[in-house]
Amino acid sequence: MAIKIHSVGGFEEIGRNMTCVEYEDEAVILDMGLYLDKYISVQDNSKTLTANQLIQEDAIPNPDYIRHIEKKVIGIVLSHAHLDHIGAVPWIAKRYNCPIIATPYTIEIVKSILKDHKKKLSNEFIPLNSNSSYPLSSNITIELVNVTHSLPQAAMIHVKTPEGNIVYTGDYKFDYNPIIGKRTNKKRLKQIGKENVLALMPDSTRADEERKTYSETVARQMLKDVLLDMETQGHGIILTTFSSHIARLKSMLELGQELGREVVFVGRSLKKYIDAAEKLKIVKFSNRAEIIPSARFAKKRLQEINKIREKYVLIMTGNQGEPDAILTRVVKDELSFNIFPEDFVVFSCITIPTPIIQANRRVVERILHNKKARIFKDVHVSGHASREDHRDLIKILKPKHVIPCHGDMNKRASLAKLANEMGYKMNKGVHLLQNGQNIVLS
Ligand SMILES: [Zn+2]
Repeated sequence: MAIKIHSVGGFEEIGRNMTCVEYEDEAVILDMGLYLDKYISVQDNSKTLTANQLIQEDAIPNPDYIRHIEKKVIGIVLSHAHLDHIGAVPWIAKRYNCPIIATPYTIEIVKSILKDHKKKLSNEFIPLNSNSSYPLSSNITIELVNVTHSLPQAAMIHVKTPEGNIVYTGDYKFDYNPIIGKRTNKKRLKQIGKENVLALMPDSTRADEERKTYSETVARQMLKDVLLDMETQGHGIILTTFSSHIARLKSMLELGQELGREVVFVGRSLKKYIDAAEKLKIVKFSNRAEIIPSARFAKKRLQEINKIREKYVLIMTGNQGEPDAILTRVVKDELSFNIFPEDFVVFSCITIPTPIIQANRRVVERILHNKKARIFKDVHVSGHASREDHRDLIKILKPKHVIPCHGDMNKRASLAKLANEMGYKMNKGVHLLQNGQNIVLS
């Protein structure tokens, strides 16, 4: 018998990741994500979105590609809590009569997303800690391997079958000095490399960058240089990053305190991710900082803070210029907080390179320039492996096949080129699939 890999989503774009591994009369789905750019654009037109609308707009993966094996699916496994990996769960998971398996933090976030959308699922949730296994059937076992990324409890998914094993990396990097959690479990990966890896499915997001991705500690140092070494005295300080980036938020909180200022988190999604991390005892922010849960609560409180702004560091939602986020609304004078000349506005992130997001960010930056704020962009280190990290992973796992995923053709081709350089022949050992295709591995 052979193993069949179905590339459902994320093979033509960075987003809506979904892969299905089929073995005999069973199958497992890996990730179920949103394509954020498309999702944002349809969200503007309609408030009540159906699964079919979202599929038609390419905002979520098209599950019809695997309709013929729908009944075979015995598990949905999620690699980590980013929306491009879990955001389609509220719409698609109900098609499959099976449990959802992920680390406790990922499950916590999925549950809060379901709540946001007022949706309920009958699928059972099975929390599985990193570096442990769950037998889904007599033939298929799922193992989650701890990896470093840009949020807590990210995992590689190791699908074990009698015919060989599949390693699906999800998003990962090799961080030697992580701020939160442990290093990527190289020791276990080296063991897995000796256990017949039939296929490796690596994240291609940064495969075209010729370097190693540096540690989150480097991002912390960058922030430190801005906050502790510059003339901040008497000026407002606003920081923003991805709300799910708990390690970055931890650095911001600690550096703000080192500066001798009160730290305030403002915004709904910050509150959501911090709550989940606190619930699982990953961090404790709420006894060291104020958390303002939404714009509604922010109005009055920001008005007060505005009067003694030099005593605060404000961490706001809105790193991508999202129209409803706190920073955007502050910049547009919709909340009672002023941005004065020479106030610090630090974007501790990259701008996701899609047209809508780039346009949103330009609007925010233009107004900030008009207000004569000091702008710091790209104070950031990525959570994704680069080319040389991927080379290490391929060396460690020694897979028979490499199937790049999470990325458009260019990104995946970069990874294919690397594999090729390492001796994998195109279409024999390394394979570039498109959404809706499948490949039989033997
Ligand atoms: Zn991610």
